[in-house]
Amino acid sequence: MSNTWVNWGRNQKCAPDQIARPSTDTQVAKLVCLGVAERKKVRAVGAGHSFSPLCATEGIMIDLSNFNSITRVDQELMQVTVGAGIRLFELNKQLELLGLALPNLGDIDCQSLAGAISTGTHGTGLGFHSISEAVVGIKMITGDGGILQCSSSKNQNFLEAARVGLGSLGIMVEVTLQCVPAFNLRAMEQTTHIESVLELFEAAIETEDHTEIFWFPHTEVGTLKINSKTTDSPSYRSRYKAFLSDEIIANGGFELINRYAKFFPSSAQQMLEKQLATDRKISYVAPSYKVFCSKRRVRFIEMEYAIPLEYLLEAFQKVREATQQLDSPITFPIEVRVLGADSIPLSPAYGRKSGYIAVHVFRGTPTDPYFRLVEDIMKTYGGRPHWGKMHTRTSRELSDLYPEWNKFQSVLEELDPDGHFSTPYLDRVLRG
Ligand SMILES: Cc1cc2nc3c(=O)[nH]c(=O)nc-3n(C[C@H](O)[C@H](O)[C@H](O)COP(=O)(O)OP(=O)(O)OC[C@H]3O[C@@H](n4cnc5c(N)ncnc54)[C@H](O)[C@@H]3O)c2cc1C
Repeated sequence: MSNTWVNWGRNQKCAPDQIARPSTDTQVAKLVCLGVAERKKVRAVGAGHSFSPLCATEGIMIDLSNFNSITRVDQELMQVTVGAGIRLFELNKQLELLGLALPNLGDIDCQSLAGAISTGTHGTGLGFHSISEAVVGIKMITGDGGILQCSSSKNQNFLEAARVGLGSLGIMVEVTLQCVPAFNLRAMEQTTHIESVLELFEAAIETEDHTEIFWFPHTEVGTLKINSKTTDSPSYRSRYKAFLSDEIIANGGFELINRYAKFFPSSAQQMLEKQLATDRKISYVAPSYKVFCSKRRVRFIEMEYAIPLEYLLEAFQKVREATQQLDSPITFPIEVRVLGADSIPLSPAYGRKSGYIAVHVFRGTPTDPYFRLVEDIMKTYGGRPHWGKMHTRTSRELSDLYPEWNKFQSVLEELDPDGHFSTPYLDRVLRG
């Protein structure tokens, strides 16, 4: 029986030689050595939530989902060591029981921890960073089956590279995270005219913790989301209203619009405008991870670019104009976020405060020419693509965008000189 693997967006699939689900470091090491002996590539997979072909392999695919518990807690330092395959929703719940939390999260919590950090998964907030920034220690199995411990005091250059390592350096089995005390967020959401949304967003990015906007192409409607830390207790949010808003409108209604628009594209704009009740406001308080993350049941394909913050609004206007050139309507909102600069060699936010622009299409819909037009705009701003999302860039172009590219390359050369953990995608983006 052949093994098949398909990602969440259903735009990537492969037939690995085997899909293994080890439970111990020794079993992972044996699989890596088996790969070497049989000249088969070895690839770690998380929850398959990347849109780019990061995980696709014909070799041995290693699923770390059995590495899913917290193995050590240092309450004084607020650090936890955890199995690398744990899903974020499970991690968040376990951290809450310890009175801890991650400082910032992305839109969803279905990813594995190792998968999320390997691509620099991020949320929003100028005073915040990607999940990778919280990583202070990594244990991984290297190409010779050995165990490598990395931290700020041991193998620090390996730690820096592996914080956003695209699965190219080895198989992570354990990750140590720097947490913060558990906190609540006040969520405020406002849907109104896009020009007002942009004005409010610009004013809020410096003063509020986590700000983002969504704009619905072919409409004048946008949504501003502001999440800020509060000492207030969680507020009552009617379960019926939450269900109506999160499930029926955001997911169920949206799926229907997308299906309908596929057959009757000219009606898409009208339907979207009806769906988006303008001047709608929502506000509530909840534990941070419940505010950061929501359910995304309507499947889509995404491209996202990080550009220097100062060009964010200018680039966004160009993207708005570009959508007017398209023959087929875009039914998914464009998402705009911000992030503080970091110093992780392959992080898209390396060395610069960044604005992120993300574009999406409904699953099964062609991404061209939409993504190509947007990518061309992003290139003019020195844009760096999200590693887990669609893009067409090659190592030749990417090497110019990352000041510490060579530092990463020397770690790659040291840890995996023969490309044992490589894939065709990694050959394109890392090895050239
Ligand atoms: C609905 C949806 C919403 C999303 N929202 C956001 C968002 O808000 N912000 C954002 O930045 N991204 C977002 N993403 C992208 C997603 O967070 C990243 O693509 C992430 O890498 C997926 O994690 P995963 O566990 O599914 O990893 P996979 O896609 O399975 O793997 C990603 C990479 O991690 C490597 N890897 C996995 N496990 C290991 C391991 N144990 N050791 C070494 N390498 C390993 C793989 O080899 C691969 O290179 C979203 C994706 C979807 C589908």
